[in-house]
Amino acid sequence: MTELDFQAPADLAGALALLASAGAGAGATRLLAGGTDLMVQMRSGRADPARIVDLKRIPGLMGIEADAGGFLIGAATSCARIGEHAGLAAAWPGVVEAARLIGSTQVQGRASLGGNLCNASPAADSVPALIAAGATCLIAGPAGRREIAVEALPLGPGRHCLAPGELVLAIRLPARAAHSGDAYLRLIPRTEMDIAVVGAGVALTIDAQGRVVAARVALGAVAPTALRVDAAAQALLGSTLDEPALARLAAAASAACRPIDDKRGTAEYRIRVAGVLARRAARIAYERATA
Ligand SMILES: Cc1cc2nc3c(=O)[nH]c(=O)nc-3n(C[C@H](O)[C@H](O)[C@H](O)COP(=O)(O)OP(=O)(O)OC[C@H]3O[C@@H](n4cnc5c(N)ncnc54)[C@H](O)[C@@H]3O)c2cc1C
Repeated sequence: MTELDFQAPADLAGALALLASAGAGAGATRLLAGGTDLMVQMRSGRADPARIVDLKRIPGLMGIEADAGGFLIGAATSCARIGEHAGLAAAWPGVVEAARLIGSTQVQGRASLGGNLCNASPAADSVPALIAAGATCLIAGPAGRREIAVEALPLGPGRHCLAPGELVLAIRLPARAAHSGDAYLRLIPRTEMDIAVVGAGVALTIDAQGRVVAARVALGAVAPTALRVDAAAQALLGSTLDEPALARLAAAASAACRPIDDKRGTAEYRIRVAGVLARRAARIAYERATA
């Protein structure tokens, strides 16, 4: 049995120093937030780290703070805490509903948005909702800090753009514009505890006449990474979400898909469902914007 070096630094500097000291053996050091992906990978032999760096004692990585009218969510904050945050749920209900779809009550007690994002599963539920919301991630590493759009982080299944020694510190949700709403929907083969066949996130803003003046649409589980689908968002602009606009949205969402066939659904099925879910999520987002 391999001996495991478990480290739980109390601050960011400690975590970065541990990552830096991993040097050429960086692959053998893994960050741990909730562990709901990492522990499963270790038990199944897909990960065999020599050192684990626990992020849950680092203040900046835990908790939710108001930030310039929006929110800064520590990357290791549990989905349970996100689900309990009234201000976040009022401003970004789609992001919160995505976090609350992850696994079960038990899983949400540990699982984090940072882990969901950095595990880089194409089917990760929070990612399309965060992309639709225009979220960014704050990254800390040996060269200092940088901030990138959430959609720029995953590069493919299990791959992300973090450089050696970097970690995601927090997710920034922007201030929600007046008369805006967001929503996230997914389809799974069972009633719960399954991975999305398709996920769709929509965020939109309307004017006084109910016309859509800004929109963002993102899809999960239909390509190697979650997709931001600008053509689908464009289809809504200027409309009052009438049937022709919804039809254009659905067509653009389906056209953007590059899915695989697997046991949860065929590529053809996923392409069709992407249009249906994008439509439904847009309706919910619109209702929220008008409320
Ligand atoms: C029973 C079960 C059901 C599940 N259901 C769902 C579901 O419905 N939807 C869904 O999307 N997922 C689901 N998952 C997967 C998992 O729960 C989520 O992906 C979760 O959000 C991962 O977060 P975590 O904090 O547990 O990540 P961890 O397991 O701690 O980490 C995941 C990966 O990210 C890295 N990492 C973690 N934090 C950071 C950071 N701050 N910076 C850089 N790298 C980091 C880790 O090194 C690891 O490689 C399920 C898992 C289980 C076990």
